[in-house]
Amino acid sequence: MTTSPSPAARTGPRAAGADYVLNPATRMLWRPDASLQLELGDRSALLTGVSAGVVSRLVRSTQPGQRRSRSTTTTLRALCEAGFLWRATGDPAAQRRGDVDERLVPPRPRLAGQLAALQARSGERAAELLSARRHAVVAVYGTGRAGPHLAALLAAAGVGRVHVSTPGTVRLGAAVPGGVLPADEGRALSRAATEAVTRAAPEADTEPPGPETPVDLAILADDEPVDPDRREALHRQGRAHLTVAVGATRGVVGPLVLPGLTSCLRCADLHRADRDPAWDSLAVQLTIPRRGPVGTDCALATVVAGTAALQALSFLDGEEPATIEGTLELHLPDWRLRRRSWPLHPDCGCGTARPGAA
Ligand SMILES: [Zn+2]
Repeated sequence: MTTSPSPAARTGPRAAGADYVLNPATRMLWRPDASLQLELGDRSALLTGVSAGVVSRLVRSTQPGQRRSRSTTTTLRALCEAGFLWRATGDPAAQRRGDVDERLVPPRPRLAGQLAALQARSGERAAELLSARRHAVVAVYGTGRAGPHLAALLAAAGVGRVHVSTPGTVRLGAAVPGGVLPADEGRALSRAATEAVTRAAPEADTEPPGPETPVDLAILADDEPVDPDRREALHRQGRAHLTVAVGATRGVVGPLVLPGLTSCLRCADLHRADRDPAWDSLAVQLTIPRRGPVGTDCALATVVAGTAALQALSFLDGEEPATIEGTLELHLPDWRLRRRSWPLHPDCGCGTARPGAA
């Protein structure tokens, strides 16, 4: 996508971007017609009539408060809101050091790359989103192979509190880069998974949320259908929940359920039962733990953990993830994620509170 701030920049020497600095993640490319192309993620902005002096000042940052034309001010503000530029502090000493607005400074240098990536998508709102992530609480349940890795990814992406609660001990076959380690074999799975989180994000809070602590998202990382009792408990608590499952050749992320607002896991079961009347009986059997380990593909589990993390972060960032009323599925040897829709089922009572629900 090409973004051309309007009106186009017509910046002269006296109209330098003195209190803005270039986002380090922004690439500057000169085009043959002497216009300047700024690139950030998959967005770009084309500036015409920009002098090398102005660019130099943007990169190095100079004194604030220089006079500019109205159109230049508008353009610089638009570029800042889009994330191409950062707003620098008003302190001249800080300007010379290249410091920027405190709101845009990530709490830890580790998250600087995360902030730049968020800016590529969300512009000036990125700092606000990253700050919200720091206050978010996610609980990960289940013994699925993707769970510990997914928990570690969320903490690494800036989620402040990630608690992993899962029974049992680590099986050697559950080890995956980013998750539990081969050396964890035989240890308590909860403990080993928590250590995977702190390896990725040493500052993350991994304590279990108390009864008064609101949990923003529960992730059910079991490789089997979700037990109906647990499903109903999550609805009673009004807790958003995302399911994640990995099998031998199939990974499924979703649906993401927002109780009272979206279709639910029972809706999905009712749709399955419509297609196969034996589904209820099969589902009960599928919830019984297996005697032996569940065979999963290591690379597939990694893709599923990453996909689930993106969906969870999208939800925490206030977007509408594709897993709302749907699942994202990868069936090997296919390489494409496919979305399957799971709309509200007319026989499920979960949607009665939703305006306009059938
Ligand atoms: Zn439902």
